[in-house]
Amino acid sequence: MSSASERVNLLGLSPQQLRKWFAEIGEKPFRATQVLKWVHQRQVDDFDQMTDLAKSLREKLKQIAIVKAPEVVLDKTSKDGTRKFVIDIGAGGLVEMVYIPEPDRATLCISSQVGCPLTCTFCSTGRQGFNRNLTTAEIIGQLWLAERLIEHKFPPNRSVTNIVFMGMGEPLLNYDAVVAVTVCPGAG
Ligand code: SF4
Repeated sequence: MSSASERVNLLGLSPQQLRKWFAEIGEKPFRATQVLKWVHQRQVDDFDQMTDLAKSLREKLKQIAIVKAPEVVLDKTSKDGTRKFVIDIGAGGLVEMVYIPEPDRATLCISSQVGCPLTCTFCSTGRQGFNRNLTTAEIIGQLWLAERLIEHKFPPNRSVTNIVFMGMGEPLLNYDAVVAVTVCPGAG
């Protein structure tokens, strides 16, 4: 089996990219739709649980692909229900994500960079300096984690109704990855 870093992280692929990827590995593109439902509607990251895929395909996917979200290292809920997460995106990089529930909606505030190169004087992130841009998989992985960890209160079976890029980083400085996120099914 390839190492985790060599396998394709399917969280970072749009539906179109995933269909193309399935075609490239010799599989029917409709398999992408099945996998997308497991990953983004049910937050499943284990190919063995994707029971409408043939066992041979599941074994093949385990060799070359992965569904890997960043890791939550802090999950703290305040009195008003706001839930703050600190997420480890690897190599010591930490980013913040905040879930803000209201009766009729729930907003997820996500990060686009580790640190930030702008130095807004009122902002603690600005004082940390800049480490790197997040990848599309790391950005969509934040939403994936929220949907996996927080009760689904909103139709159609969602925890989050609104997403804002107001965590760490200036999203326009990571334009390509942020735009790619908007066409990922989890953010749709
Ligand atoms: S994260 Fe936002 S507020 Fe903070 S330094 Fe960067 S651009 Fe300014």
